[in-house]
Amino acid sequence: MIELRRCSRCMIPETHETIMFDEQGVCNICRQNEFKREAIDWEARGREFRELVESYRGKYTHDCIVPFSGGKDSTFTLYHLVKTYGVKPLVVQFDHGFMRPRLLENNVRTFKALGVDVLSFRPDWKVVRHLMLESLKRKGDFCWHCHTGIFAFPMQIAVKFNIPLVIWGEPSAEYTSYYGYDEKEEVDEKRFNRFVNLGITADDMQGMVPGLTARDLEPFRYPAYKDLRRVGVRSVCLGSYIPWDTKTQSELIVRELGWEGNEVEGVPPEYYFEKVECFVQGVRDYLKYLKRGYGRTAHLTSLEIRHGRMTRAEADALVREYDGKRPASLDHFLQAVGIDEQEFMDIAMTHIVSPWRPDPAEIPHGQPLHDHARFDRTIPLMPID
Ligand SMILES: [Zn+2]
Repeated sequence: MIELRRCSRCMIPETHETIMFDEQGVCNICRQNEFKREAIDWEARGREFRELVESYRGKYTHDCIVPFSGGKDSTFTLYHLVKTYGVKPLVVQFDHGFMRPRLLENNVRTFKALGVDVLSFRPDWKVVRHLMLESLKRKGDFCWHCHTGIFAFPMQIAVKFNIPLVIWGEPSAEYTSYYGYDEKEEVDEKRFNRFVNLGITADDMQGMVPGLTARDLEPFRYPAYKDLRRVGVRSVCLGSYIPWDTKTQSELIVRELGWEGNEVEGVPPEYYFEKVECFVQGVRDYLKYLKRGYGRTAHLTSLEIRHGRMTRAEADALVREYDGKRPASLDHFLQAVGIDEQEFMDIAMTHIVSPWRPDPAEIPHGQPLHDHARFDRTIPLMPID
């Protein structure tokens, strides 16, 4: 097994996107987190956020749009906006086609408890299958339809419904360095093209997959700049204005909303709140492991170390136990995109980030999730056409 260079603090390896190390061997994401804790006047940011919300209140059918997956971050964001600021939001949900049963139950409970209007959209499954396969082949990441749909569709709704304020949850500075905590991240087209869409626009995708039309790609298309400007859309992250902490926020939504976490492949049970939205999250994390040599547990323990809640030795033990297993949900995924495991592996191998090299023969199999069989019943058994 190749030994990767790791951050001397959080242990994230050199294969992580946007990572750099300073003279002390500390990564730029750890340094951003120091900045977040020490140099930001969070009270001033909080006042700024209140002014922002007040400037839109009562002027449109809804005070803002809240893009919503039902995971811990969007649930907390919605809770915080309704309870702390008393806004009337339009909740916009982009259904990627892989939502787990408990998530759907959580969502309905949250919507009822908070009293909000909800708009949900699920794109054509036959189109989604093509998009997943094409994005897997080109980028080693099958989630193009999800990344683009989640970020483009609520912006389309902002334009169509004339609701100019869109409020997201977590800022990307928490995990990567595309943006720093010294700037307030606008969730705009620049950001969309910088990393959300994997460098593939809806028009590009239409050219890549024969048979798909412009209309098929519409849900994944960022709205035209002139339309966004006409409505005056502002699109911001709540986490740019309050100090983000997924663990305490998760505890709050469990307590206040009865939100239920779930087991996730490759994740220790104490992180019941992490990435519970998607049946094939385990496959996404497995691909990351194949490409970059670390998985979801290494990501989680890096956050714990940065928050001062875990030692490096404890993190190392968890990573060894949970990362780098072949998830049982890979079967679902292969069925969904119509390829076999060898083809999947061949594609993954073309996207490996140097100097990492996985050894597929040595990868152990993980256990199926408790709701594994329930997903089978939602996939039609038909070849991709
Ligand atoms: Zn670090």
